[in-house]
Amino acid sequence: MTEKTLFTKIEAVMKLTVLGSGTSHGVPVISCRCRVCKSADSRDRRLRASALLTVDDSGTGRNFLIDVGPDFREQALRVDLCSLDGVFLTHPHADHIHGIDDLRIFSRKNSCAMNSDAELAKRFPETSGKGLPVYMSSESEKLVRENFKYIFMTHEKGGGTPKLDIVCTDSYDEKNPLKISGMSVVPVPLVHGCMNTTGWIFIEEKNEEKHCIAYLTDCNAITENSLERIRACSAGGVIDHLVIDALRLRPHSTHNSFDQALAYADKIGAVHTWFTHLSHDYTHEEIGTLLESKILEHENLRKIAAGAGSVEPAFDGLELSC
Ligand SMILES: [Zn+2]
Ligand SMILES: [Zn+2]
Ligand SMILES: [Zn+2]
Repeated sequence: MTEKTLFTKIEAVMKLTVLGSGTSHGVPVISCRCRVCKSADSRDRRLRASALLTVDDSGTGRNFLIDVGPDFREQALRVDLCSLDGVFLTHPHADHIHGIDDLRIFSRKNSCAMNSDAELAKRFPETSGKGLPVYMSSESEKLVRENFKYIFMTHEKGGGTPKLDIVCTDSYDEKNPLKISGMSVVPVPLVHGCMNTTGWIFIEEKNEEKHCIAYLTDCNAITENSLERIRACSAGGVIDHLVIDALRLRPHSTHNSFDQALAYADKIGAVHTWFTHLSHDYTHEEIGTLLESKILEHENLRKIAAGAGSVEPAFDGLELSC
């Protein structure tokens, strides 16, 4: 298989692959013996939350990563990731950014891993310009520059750091979206305890049809303004998929409970809603059963489910197309 084969077969407008559907500990949790952590169902093995968006840009597959957590290396190997065109960061918590050094392979040839391999060096030439674009809010940028100071310092050639171009997205909104590889991207501010995070809406228009994928994590609240922004993004089209933070059934100080996530899903009205950032409280199957009865409590979700729609737990490897 050539390195582009995986990505040139896309027939859909956009494809989002869930690389990780787990909370910050991942599931199984280290040393835990609970039934979920011991489950034999592969859908109960949840790496840290991340996703890969693949877009067909004039016949060429472009890959964009959402978050680069501590499991990124394993996730990239699983999907045979061979090129990367940018990264969207939700926020710089460890479970979303501590794989940042592994972006080296896509941003600089002179890393330790490349030095002795001429073939790899040819496939991943020295990044031109400023480096790999990483899109984030100014609040995230401040923390990234503080916490990963060594990346942005002057250092010797072959110093083993990624070459990153932080792009601040504060000034972009539904009226002024980022334009990348033929799609429009709109950042959505979310509340995550004391901090703000960035959800991302990806919009493509093809044959006069507008398609959206919304990725909203981490959060325990979505303001009316942000809900309005999401609605405006999908006006005249449809949100095909909503991937939303839904940690567990019990309430939590920084993450949506299942009921909170359902209430937001009801307001957003995507055709398919997928719960992510899942804890080890329930198995995939148990969450599915719980949701079947819970969606009946929500008018809009009830209608969506009676049609072709659904509300389900995500799992690692899930592919969503539109
Ligand atoms: Zn998280
Ligand atoms: Zn457990
Ligand atoms: Zn977080």
